[in-house]
Amino acid sequence: MIGNLIIISSPSGGGKGTLIREVLRTTPDITFSVSYTTREMRAGEKDGREYFFVDVERFKDLIAAGEFLEYAEVHGNYYGTSRSQVNDLTSSGKDVLLEVDVQGAKNLLASVPDAVSIFVLPPSFPTLETRLRLRATESSGDLQVRLRNSFSEILEYDKFRFAVVNDDLETAVEEMRTIIRSERHRTNRQNTAFKAILDSFDAAKHRFEKEPN
Ligand code: ADP
Repeated sequence: MIGNLIIISSPSGGGKGTLIREVLRTTPDITFSVSYTTREMRAGEKDGREYFFVDVERFKDLIAAGEFLEYAEVHGNYYGTSRSQVNDLTSSGKDVLLEVDVQGAKNLLASVPDAVSIFVLPPSFPTLETRLRLRATESSGDLQVRLRNSFSEILEYDKFRFAVVNDDLETAVEEMRTIIRSERHRTNRQNTAFKAILDSFDAAKHRFEKEPN
């Protein structure tokens, strides 16, 4: 069976990275597709784990090679989703989480309408601002750009199939797990899994084919 592609998006600082880390840690049969970016690596990040960190020239080569399912320039950096990784991982039957900025998610939803999309909202603008400032990963100029972009990005929540408010972390993680589990139970995703059950009905049917007296 092909795994679900699950797109997690939010304004910068909304908590998608944190939520994804927690969901991966606590949910079986789920994996993460590593995207490419030209942004600087942050302290604690590892090339190939959070992102593949590449320069602009390499990024443009990858665009030309058709390696991106979608890519976008956001907050002055490029971000791109690896087509080969998404295909390989979903083909292995695992659900695949993808962390995508809001612009990239909109592009992706247009080309992969079957994807499960979850928008993460911070509980309020002041909380978003405080969290981004405490994260302290951007220069003050970059921080301003991210906060300014958040005003239009937050309005995009209704383009997504699901939305989760990231107030209490444990609660938000549990809500994400619930969405992921529910999607696994869609009838059209279970045709293969149900084949043995249906076969057992088929095998027994002849015993009941005569009209009862
Ligand atoms: P994004 O990946 O969307 O840019 P992050 O996951 O980096 O956002 O979260 C932004 C900051 O907010 C991080 O420093 C993170 O530790 C913190 N954070 C995320 N979720 C919560 C939460 N529920 N409660 C408190 N702090 C949080």
